[in-house]
Amino acid sequence: MLIVQKFGGSSVADAQKMMRVAGIIADTKRAGNDVVVVLSAQGDTTDDLLDKAAEINPNASKRELDMLLTTGEQISIALCAMALETMDVPAVSLTGWQVGMRTSSDFGNARIKTMDTARIRDELDAGKVVIVAGFQGVNKNDEITTLGRGGSDTTAVAIAARLHADLCQIYTDVEGVYTADPRIVPQARKLDEITYDEMLELASMGAQVLHNRSVEMAKRYNVNMEVLSSYVRKSGTIVREVVKKMEETKVSGVAKDEKIARIALVGLNDVPGVAFKVFRVLAKEKINVDIILQSIGRGDTKDISFTVSKSDMDRAVTALEAAKDTIGFDHITVSDKVAKISVVGAGMINSPGVAVQMFEALYNAHVNIHMISTSEIKISVLIDSAQADVAMRAVHEAFFGE
Ligand code: ADP
Ligand code: ASP
Ligand code: MG
Repeated sequence: MLIVQKFGGSSVADAQKMMRVAGIIADTKRAGNDVVVVLSAQGDTTDDLLDKAAEINPNASKRELDMLLTTGEQISIALCAMALETMDVPAVSLTGWQVGMRTSSDFGNARIKTMDTARIRDELDAGKVVIVAGFQGVNKNDEITTLGRGGSDTTAVAIAARLHADLCQIYTDVEGVYTADPRIVPQARKLDEITYDEMLELASMGAQVLHNRSVEMAKRYNVNMEVLSSYVRKSGTIVREVVKKMEETKVSGVAKDEKIARIALVGLNDVPGVAFKVFRVLAKEKINVDIILQSIGRGDTKDISFTVSKSDMDRAVTALEAAKDTIGFDHITVSDKVAKISVVGAGMINSPGVAVQMFEALYNAHVNIHMISTSEIKISVLIDSAQADVAMRAVHEAFFGE
């Protein structure tokens, strides 16, 4: 079999953990498999590098930030190759550009465009374990790029897709995908299986266990994916197109996203074209908008509020203020003390009452809802971030309690 194994930052945080990871890789190789490994930077390295940059220049260019951040993964792959040397397992470490990982030019959030498999194939044919730096690539001008935080998962899935690997294993610090983040909800249960669609919603709604773009890609190329622990050797969660028990559960998980902010435009003229003008400004700035709420007109004015990611908040406000005369509004209010709690489940389509059950749980926990948004397989509410964990536990209890 050809297996891609990805190990996250906490799994390779120090020498001892790196040796444990090398042990897993060595066992997989010795069992007769071809193995490609994708690694993240060790522990908090990426955050530490960002802090280092901010000490020198809080407004550093994105190009230079990517140059800096990609060093973290490069340390990991070299150390892992050295660890495998001690086990007499032939291995070679390769950076993103060495494996021909071509991306778009959006520094800090680049998308994978193509990947050249020749080098990896050659090394595999030579009997080596190939260790690739996650999260990085190069653009068409050979500039180094990164795929966005958590992007090593996407590197792994891209390689698995491109090599038609039999399996893509994502090793992490929990035993699989749970019904909620097990660190916040101790009662959360591990799922044996989850569909691509549900996992994509959970990841997009803030469950950081998988990078959402990795799930999107796994679905598109039908990559056989497993999330499992690098500490305990037992089977984890399989992510696939259809799961056996799909019809029995309405909800498969609860997720929390605290990296969002709410912006409200107050006193907009109640005339046609206002929403268009507001969101055109944001689209021009390439700012993604999530939940949108428009009030009913009172007299000749109305309000529009919406959420954006926290990192886009200041840019969004600046752009809207600059367009104040064209749009026509009284003032803007913002809050970054908000969180989004979502319940996700494919079975929701055929079970009315999921929303009511969620709202009742929040009511009983005295949580006030600011905004609501729904899709076929998801219901999200915006609440105060101070209540996020309480809300998450209450909602989880409502759907998964005894
Ligand atoms: P890695 O460094 O291995 O990429 P991450 O920190 O990115 O690990 O992702 C693993 C973390 O995701 C877990 O430690 C857990 O706290 C969090 N998490 C959030 N939601 C879930 C969920 N539904 N199931 C499992 N883990 C989750
Ligand atoms: N090291 C990068 C990060 O911390 C990428 C990753 O771990 O997936 O975001
Ligand atoms: Mg991760």
